[in-house]
Amino acid sequence: MDISHVVIFGEDNASLSEVAALLPAQIRGVCLSDPVALQTALQESDSAALILVVPATGTPERLNLPQLGPYLARTPLILVSLQTQVSAEWIEVLLAYHPCGLLTRPFDHDQLEKALVQTTSRDLQETLAETNRQLNARIQEINTVYTVGKSVASSLDTGEILERIIVPAVNLTQADSGFVILREGDQLFVHMAKHRDDLAPELLHAPTSDRIAWQVIRSGRPTMLHREIKIATDLLARAFLYVPLRKPGADVSGVLGVVNWKKDVPFTENQLFTLSTVADFAAVALENARLFSLREAEHSRLTAILQHAAEAIIVTNPADRLWLWSNAAARLFNILPEAQGQCLFDHVKNAELEELFSQISPETPFIHAEVNLTNGAVYNAQVSNIDGIGRIAVMQDITNLKELDRLKSEFVSTVSHDLRTPLTSIQGYIALLDRAGPLNKLQSDFVGTALASLDHITALISDLLDIGRIEAGYDLEMKPLRFDDLIEAAVETSQIAAREASIALTVQMCQAPLWVRGNARRLRQVLDNLISNAIKYNHSGGWVHVEAGQDSEHAIVHVSDSGVGIPLDEQSRIFDRFYRVQSVETENIKGTGLGLSIVKSVIEKHNGRIWVKSGVGKGSTFTFVLPTCEAES
Ligand code: ADP
Repeated sequence: MDISHVVIFGEDNASLSEVAALLPAQIRGVCLSDPVALQTALQESDSAALILVVPATGTPERLNLPQLGPYLARTPLILVSLQTQVSAEWIEVLLAYHPCGLLTRPFDHDQLEKALVQTTSRDLQETLAETNRQLNARIQEINTVYTVGKSVASSLDTGEILERIIVPAVNLTQADSGFVILREGDQLFVHMAKHRDDLAPELLHAPTSDRIAWQVIRSGRPTMLHREIKIATDLLARAFLYVPLRKPGADVSGVLGVVNWKKDVPFTENQLFTLSTVADFAAVALENARLFSLREAEHSRLTAILQHAAEAIIVTNPADRLWLWSNAAARLFNILPEAQGQCLFDHVKNAELEELFSQISPETPFIHAEVNLTNGAVYNAQVSNIDGIGRIAVMQDITNLKELDRLKSEFVSTVSHDLRTPLTSIQGYIALLDRAGPLNKLQSDFVGTALASLDHITALISDLLDIGRIEAGYDLEMKPLRFDDLIEAAVETSQIAAREASIALTVQMCQAPLWVRGNARRLRQVLDNLISNAIKYNHSGGWVHVEAGQDSEHAIVHVSDSGVGIPLDEQSRIFDRFYRVQSVETENIKGTGLGLSIVKSVIEKHNGRIWVKSGVGKGSTFTFVLPTCEAES
């Protein structure tokens, strides 16, 4: 070695000392961190070599190297990076001057000595060629890694992704074998393996007890070793390199590993870096594939449900554009696959359904009604808003039920009508019995009981006839009327019954006249039924309060009482025909179970709604709304 001393130049004294400590004993190291001092040192000494310590951050401009150009050109230059990598810019600096060596971590005494020997003994052209070769190899590696990154990112198939990483992983590291191990709960499985001599990689799902893979998964750090070691039961490695597969911010999902088990060659820091980069690409692509397959599974489950659902189901986005529909809906409305994304009503021509969709809003997130189709079928349609998705319409064919209902109503109406005439006559004759001669006490009691039962049957028949007529739309001529007057009259009439039952019946009306378009007789029936129920299902000394108000479009009426209340689970059924709550409090109260179903039918015929709020022992409030109309002049 001809040189007697070297200048070690860099920014940080600790790293300069670290490099100086590696120098052979016969070579003196002069540590400098000031560019002016460096210039002087280079001017004064022709024989010295320069060791440039690459700063951890920053570009070559930071060291003002261009100013030293003339001196650097004749000074053998060794570039030392305290990192495992050195960027291309610094390699360019090395190549621009008088390159003798490039050292990255881990380096030692011998490597530095070798570089120093090269400063004098080796042909500079040769050094340049070697450095160039290394650089080209590195560029090629980076290109390969970039291509791998692009190719795995374009796939959403786990097997394909694994195949696309394992082949370059083995090639880039020149390893005997490579494999991908993925974690599934508490177990590890080898999913893909590639041996250098085999042409194609092998797709597997084999459990493994690889303890080093566990170590990498738990620590999240790569592991590289060069010594004989038993990785799994039957795998004796001479050198191995394992890097974690981890999507940023998530747990480690597996390991990408390469092993030399035939040849005794260690893996390098460069290879570790390259393999880690490949693993990072793979981890992101594997996560995308996982999420995609989850989405696909969800989608096929949903499609299967829609295919097999008997109901016609249609899902749209918030702008009523078709998104999903069941086979039944496709058949019913002849919706073709190309309708996807198009406006629902360009394909489904039904004014009633369109009306239902138009009524859905954040305030009315759910609506249901009967929808008549052109082929005569009747469907029960429920349209709901699904936040963040759009709307869903579920339609059930109720044509047969409707027909049955019509037949039943017809039957009941005919029978009721035919019963009423003889009943009236029986009632009349029984009432006249005492005219035929004096009745003793027992006979009078019997007559009383018979008349009470006849009253009940007559009420029942009259309710049944009413329901039949209301549903058929008979006697339902409508015209604008003062609903407030109707309410006051109903309350007034009920005062007698209230007094008899010792109930305080009060009313509170809104100031403005309440105009409603409706049938006075039927609306009065609604009020009478609600008020009489409020009195009937009450306690002596209790109260009933009727309150009427209005908003911009509706008349709102509350009928509240202090009575027995209705259990929550029965509240939805009390509007059904013949339904009566069975309880100790109500068992002696007479009724047909038809009053509320008449009320509901009338209100619905007037395009209104009714509901109840109640609690056992806490009284009840029945509220109904009816659309208001213009005042009649
Ligand atoms: P009913 O002829 O039996 O009164 P309705 O159809 O009018 O028939 O009412 C159905 C059932 O609802 C009644 O049997 C009763 O159990 C319950 N109900 C109705 N109104 C009230 C109320 N104001 N308070 C408590 N329960 C009521």
